[in-house]
Amino acid sequence: MTVHILLVEDDPGDAGLTAAYLRQTRFAGSAPRIETATSLRDARGKIAEALPDLVLLDLALPDSSGLATVTAMQALLPEIPIVVLSGQRDPEFEAQVLEAGAQDYLVKGEFDAEHIGRTIRHARTRARLEARLKLQDAALQAVASGIIITDADAHILWSNPAFSQITGYSREEALGRTLRELLRSGHNDAAVYENLWQTIRAGQVWRGELVSKRRDDSLYDEELAITPVRDAHGAIQHFVTVQQDISARRATEEKIRQLAFFDALTELPNRRLLHDRLRQSLAGCGRNQRGGALLFIDLDNFKGLNDSLGHDMGDLLLIQVARRLVECVREGDTVARLGGDEFVVMLEDLSGNQDEAVHQAEAVGEKILATLNLPYFLDGHEQHSTPSIGITLFHDPREDIDDLLKRADLAMYQAKEAGRNTLRFFDHAMQTRVEERATLEQELRRGLHLGQFLLYYQPQVDAAGRVIGAEALLRWNHPRRGLVLPGEFIQLAEETGLIVSLGHWVLEQACRQLAAWSRDPDLAHLTLAVNVSARQFRHPDFAERTLALLDQCGAAPNRLKLELTESLLLDNLEATAEKMSLLKAHGIGFALDDFGTGYSSLAYLRRLPLDQLKIDRSFVKDVLANPNDAVIARTIIALGQSLGLPVIAEGVETTLQHDFLASHGCGDFQGYLYGRPVPVEEFPRPARDANG
Ligand code: C2E
Ligand code: CA
Ligand code: CA
Repeated sequence: MTVHILLVEDDPGDAGLTAAYLRQTRFAGSAPRIETATSLRDARGKIAEALPDLVLLDLALPDSSGLATVTAMQALLPEIPIVVLSGQRDPEFEAQVLEAGAQDYLVKGEFDAEHIGRTIRHARTRARLEARLKLQDAALQAVASGIIITDADAHILWSNPAFSQITGYSREEALGRTLRELLRSGHNDAAVYENLWQTIRAGQVWRGELVSKRRDDSLYDEELAITPVRDAHGAIQHFVTVQQDISARRATEEKIRQLAFFDALTELPNRRLLHDRLRQSLAGCGRNQRGGALLFIDLDNFKGLNDSLGHDMGDLLLIQVARRLVECVREGDTVARLGGDEFVVMLEDLSGNQDEAVHQAEAVGEKILATLNLPYFLDGHEQHSTPSIGITLFHDPREDIDDLLKRADLAMYQAKEAGRNTLRFFDHAMQTRVEERATLEQELRRGLHLGQFLLYYQPQVDAAGRVIGAEALLRWNHPRRGLVLPGEFIQLAEETGLIVSLGHWVLEQACRQLAAWSRDPDLAHLTLAVNVSARQFRHPDFAERTLALLDQCGAAPNRLKLELTESLLLDNLEATAEKMSLLKAHGIGFALDDFGTGYSSLAYLRRLPLDQLKIDRSFVKDVLANPNDAVIARTIIALGQSLGLPVIAEGVETTLQHDFLASHGCGDFQGYLYGRPVPVEEFPRPARDANG
């Protein structure tokens, strides 16, 4: 390609000479095309016809002179290299000429053809490089990615505006820092940094995502590429870091995830997420031996409500139902909406014991029933809605998820068939148990009301075999089942809260009995031990009501002994100790029941005002056959002795058991060996000697 040169020179002699030199030079093998102009004005005309590749410019023209000529020409041809033809050698002036933007200068009379050719070639190359640099710089300034360039020690040498925009650090602030400082937000794993530095020090590009901190300490997600730049000898000289703030993209991804896994109306997990969580939960069941439950919930009258009030109202109802469901469960549990008016609650971390898990799931189901039955206020109107709930339990990691959901669904239909607004278990046996419990609870209430309960008394004896007291044991004279033992109903009474009134009744009976005994000289010395359950003891009025009962019946408080269990004591030690001390101040005694079966921590034994330790009958039973039990029994006796607490053994059935325990220092005894629990009329009277 021919190089097109514009020669601006008003002196015809100089112009001729220069043109002659030019004609002798070759650019990439061809002679240049030469255009001449004698003034700026003339040059302007020539340029309008065709753009030159280079201008040779004499500064002293008829219509312009000096540096102004360079400036004027540059304005005409901003991107085209200019080589100045100067009249005489003047280094100072020449420097100004270059400063003004000329690529080079030639002194008239001091150059030849070869010289002018080289000057033009260099001028063109330099101009090309400059233009490219300018372009690159413009690009770096304009890109949306933050870019920083560091030296080999990661000190920042350069940064672009996008970097400042992303991080909040101005270029000046950035220059003082190192890449290391910038990347260290405290929110990435140490391993990530390790990998990063290792990679770039090895001369490789590192790409990754980091959580970074802006100047104002706010965090953002960024995508980074750090490229090491080597010099000619292969030594790393620079690192170029290109960063992108991907917080917005992350937010979008999160939004998409939200759409994919959550129900848009209620913001609850959808079927897909439920499946995921269920899969995880099942896997967890295998590891931790715990169980879970699925509750399938369907609103009974939703379609009707939707049709009569409109979809907007229907939506409002669903949102409120969703909210209530979330409130009914624990934090880790999942409430999902499958669509329409179908919800599923997944309970996790239920007991591994199936009976207990049934009760736990039932309790939540009952709570949901009650909660969803409360009136709804939709746009100012009161509405009512009821659910039908189907429940199925899971604990086997191999269980099929769809099967599970189907079972819960089936159980839900059974609830509908049973008249709606109720819950049903998928498993028949479970359902039966639930129903039996419901019946038992009803019967318990009625039994208490109708006076079907009574107390049996089991003697407690001292080392010499003398009856020193009794333990009151509750019996239920059930109209159909006959005499029912507490093992069958105490726990339910505890769970339903019925234990509070039942326990009160027991205490009242016990106080009456104590008062009756106190009027009989043969029995006045007897103490009476009464079992008190946790819920009963924790009732805020327990102490007050117990003292009032003693008072009403005229019983001596120091004849009454309350039997508490370890688990009761350990829960809220402070409050328990306080309540015990209050009662103890009135003379009431305390025995620690079932000792050895729980935590048996010495620390709390010392802090509580106890009067007696009771070795649980489970240790007594095998005290002769099982060395382990023997050790426990002996340890408890020794412990009692060291704490100054008398020890009583319960469940003693044989003289061998008695002798073993007595030989190790056990002072008091209770068990079939001395007497079974009996109605008070059959309670043994101490043998009176004929004179007494
Ligand atoms: P517990 O406090 O450990 O009561 C002792 C249990 O052992 C009684 O069972 C008693 O009949 C039984 N027993 C006594 N001696 C022997 C023996 O030599 N061998 C065997 N195998 N058993 C013996 P019971 O009456 O069925 O009471 C069971 C549990 O019910 C009691 O255990 C107590 O925790 C609870 N309970 C009983 N009455 C009440 C009460 O009025 N209130 C509360 N909250 N719980 C009560
Ligand atoms: Ca007891
Ligand atoms: Ca016991």
